[in-house]
Amino acid sequence: MSQIDLNLRFSNSFSSLGEDYFSRVSPTPFKSPSRLVHFNRRASKLLELESGIEKSSDFLHVFSGSSHVLGGDPLAMLYSGHQFGQYVPQLGDGRAIMLGELSNTKDEKWEIQLKGSGLTPYSRNGDGRAVLRSTIREYLCSEAMFGLGIPTTTALCMTVSEDEVYRENMERGAVLTRLAPSHIRFGSFEVFYYRNQHEKLAVLADYVIQNHYPEILTSQDQYTVWLKIIVDRTAKLIAQWQAIGFCHGVMNTDNMSVLGLTLDYGPFAFMEAYEPTFVCNHSDYQGRYAYNQQSKIGLFNLSCFAQSILPLLSDTPEKSAEIATEILKTYHSSYDQYFSSLMQKKLGFNESMQSDLSLIDNLHLLMAEDKVDFTILYRQLCKFRSSADNNSIRDLFIQRDKFDEWARSYTNRLGKEDLDDGIREKKMLATNPKYILRNYMAETAIRKAEDDKDYSEISRVFDLLEKPFDEQPENEKYAGFPPDWASRLSVSCSS
Ligand code: AMP
Ligand code: MG
Repeated sequence: MSQIDLNLRFSNSFSSLGEDYFSRVSPTPFKSPSRLVHFNRRASKLLELESGIEKSSDFLHVFSGSSHVLGGDPLAMLYSGHQFGQYVPQLGDGRAIMLGELSNTKDEKWEIQLKGSGLTPYSRNGDGRAVLRSTIREYLCSEAMFGLGIPTTTALCMTVSEDEVYRENMERGAVLTRLAPSHIRFGSFEVFYYRNQHEKLAVLADYVIQNHYPEILTSQDQYTVWLKIIVDRTAKLIAQWQAIGFCHGVMNTDNMSVLGLTLDYGPFAFMEAYEPTFVCNHSDYQGRYAYNQQSKIGLFNLSCFAQSILPLLSDTPEKSAEIATEILKTYHSSYDQYFSSLMQKKLGFNESMQSDLSLIDNLHLLMAEDKVDFTILYRQLCKFRSSADNNSIRDLFIQRDKFDEWARSYTNRLGKEDLDDGIREKKMLATNPKYILRNYMAETAIRKAEDDKDYSEISRVFDLLEKPFDEQPENEKYAGFPPDWASRLSVSCSS
């Protein structure tokens, strides 16, 4: 494979851990040429890439996995994980290859990963590839999450080839270039715990702390403090998902980031009609990862993670278990605090009051009964006026009398803070997005890309998702209800 000098200074601190933690592997070039589908200018600024770099054929070769990049040290990471509650001893990057790290002048380091770039030693029965459809979904969703202010991995670019990849049908193979400060997962620790290679846990934990939690380097009981922070970050992340209606779809422990990022976008969805038991992954027959299960699953996943680092927490298993149990006990209260504070903001309250939770519950109960669109309702609520009829909000409900009753208690609650309507509206507009990535939006972009090789819809949706709280009159149609055909869409794990 040829080597290309992109004038980027790659390093790879992860590779210094040694090959117990990964396998060195190179991307497998596609047989047919690739083309660039989209380039994320915002992400390129994070990396301080030269402007226009994406126009060069060298760039395309590197980020479609057809050439080596000078300075890179490509590898696939090892991990295991609990999938749908069952421990799977060896997973690992089955179709992702980390090229190395790039640093910017602020000394921020980004791991650069190609997803869909061919077989690795962890591919098991897979082909190491990703199809265009799932690549577009991850690409758009990670940008949507960024726009919403939710911690996430980021996509730098997406390329597509003419090579066929077989899923339910023949599809085209694509490569997503993904960035994150680190892609290390809960499962990256589980693998060494279950293999009884406990000495390897400390090396990995020290690496993560050194590079990503430097603020605790001088703490006593460093690993305990670290676990506390991970529990807190995960609670916060899931509260943010809930408050925006995001459903991850495959919250296996190998998809949980030790940095508290949203990681591995598969059959995700933004909930549209409010439905607590909403399941976005059609392969999740039991509803394990339903919207209203996500916070509970967060604790299950954290318990798996805590278990895997027990050997680091103290000298004896009993003491370690005690420490971990105490920390895990804080999860629900952290989650509740984050969630209620986000919901209070969504409703425009400055202060927190005891009655708020029942006010929120009552609204959600009614929204569930009437299948009210989560995003549209909260956006409309920004315009609520205590002294007006609020018909545009009222009309979203079938049981209008019940809404009126709720509106009276909301008016009452707003009165307790004497909030100026205009100021409240402004604040609420910055918390309740106008635009989310609805399934039909991703699907429309996918169909145009697949059928006509027309990638313009990807750009349009991408641009609007970068500013989801802004009024964008030219994109008004994306702020409305999904079209009827969208209700027949289904998303599975196949990607
Ligand atoms: P996921 O649930 O998509 O995060 O994937 C679970 C595991 O399967 C991970 O180890 C992936 O790397 C691996 N995997 C998923 N799809 C493929 C594929 N097409 N080829 C090889 N490995 C895959
Ligand atoms: Mg995964």
